[in-house]
Amino acid sequence: MPPTDNVMDKLVSLAKRRGFVFQSSEIYGGLGSVWDYGPLGVELKKNIKERWWRAMVHDREDIEGLDAAILMHPKVWEASGHVAGFTDPLVDCKHCKNRFRADDPRIKGTPGEPTVQCPVCGSKGTLTAPRMFNLMFRTFMGPVEEAAAVVYLRPETAQGIYVNYLNVLQSSRQKIPFGIAQIGKAFRNEITPGNFIFRTREFEQMEMQFFVKPGTDLEWFEFWRHERMKWLAGLGVRPEKLRFHQHTKDELAHYAKDAHDVQYEFPFGWQEFEGIHNRTNFDLSRHQEFSGKKLEYLDVATNERFIPYVVETSAGADRTTLVVMVDAYHEEEVEGEKRVVLRLHPAIAPLKAAVFPLVNKDGMPELARRIFDDLRKHYNTFYDDGGSIGRRYRRQDEAGTPFGITIDGQSTQDGSVTVRDRDTLKQIRVAADRLAEYLAERLRS
Ligand code: ATP
Repeated sequence: MPPTDNVMDKLVSLAKRRGFVFQSSEIYGGLGSVWDYGPLGVELKKNIKERWWRAMVHDREDIEGLDAAILMHPKVWEASGHVAGFTDPLVDCKHCKNRFRADDPRIKGTPGEPTVQCPVCGSKGTLTAPRMFNLMFRTFMGPVEEAAAVVYLRPETAQGIYVNYLNVLQSSRQKIPFGIAQIGKAFRNEITPGNFIFRTREFEQMEMQFFVKPGTDLEWFEFWRHERMKWLAGLGVRPEKLRFHQHTKDELAHYAKDAHDVQYEFPFGWQEFEGIHNRTNFDLSRHQEFSGKKLEYLDVATNERFIPYVVETSAGADRTTLVVMVDAYHEEEVEGEKRVVLRLHPAIAPLKAAVFPLVNKDGMPELARRIFDDLRKHYNTFYDDGGSIGRRYRRQDEAGTPFGITIDGQSTQDGSVTVRDRDTLKQIRVAADRLAEYLAERLRS
């Protein structure tokens, strides 16, 4: 049974202990809600991104890849509506200097009116009236700050896709319907970030914009809703922890026709980590208007011209990483001892196997090294000869490594090794020269 109490604290501590995620600039006291991925974390997130890329770009003929720059022409963000509208209302406490979103449920007050009590210091009458705060990070391009142009760090990757839509269409010779997929960093100066890597100021998105003929958008919306759920189930996430949440009229962006969040039941409640949106022709129409460049599509078969509708699937790579880590985290009793194990799907586990010489003598290390050198040609494999075998197993359980391979006295006699399964804890003997094949069968995703 996954524990429900302070599981986030335990996960943050495991993430640090095992090298998944560290606080940014930790030796300087850290930077608020910015995180670094350590040796295991970078592998886990990379495996998720690669799996997404494969499903979107390599397995489909109708989607092309793109890697657009983070910095874009400032007019992009006027056209997209971010300069005028990407804002959150915030209030400050004049006493303790803390800052909150005005819609923070902890703030008691009449909606839209100055609020009455600070949720941190408890002072009354010290909260300012709500002010609008733009979430985009600004910086300056050019050597002289005063004369330089203000540019933004992109708050989403999607706009890089829209402004390249014609370039990709023409160079790839795709026809509508077709899509463009991109993975990249995005930045938001969130007022109330938190919950570890759930809401951060620098994060990575995996976005795919699918361009369709108006009138076919509802069908494609349904298609992509199902595809995305299927993909998530393939990551091994428990289906009962996943659900769709359809945006109500109040939640819906003004340009969107429909939006469904994919939510996961985190220890801090049901929360979105991916969205499927019907964005209509809003973005392309606005870019056509602001750039003065025609972004219409000519359907050669029917001679019709139209601005395509866009069905978007927008996922956070970091939030998806958090979903798989939370979902995989288990504590259990094994022979009277507590065991913490990350039951990660083998296809995304950072390490696929770990090799252990039972003791550091009698030819075991030499044989273990040979086996390790052979396996690492195929899989990210770890070699560990430090401490008792039980401790070595425990470390790999916490790392989510699906297989532990032990070289013992018998191995030096008959060339067989034991393979321990992370989840069932069963150990079986396998001939060392069949090991790569044995793992391949079990790691096939
Ligand atoms: P939220 O309501 O949580 O702020 P959003 O609706 O603004 O999210 P979108 O703009 O739809 O999110 O972004 C798509 C995805 O990008 C989200 O589902 C999430 O996975 C990811 N994402 C957005 N903001 C952040 C953030 N600050 N930190 C980490 N991931 C984020």
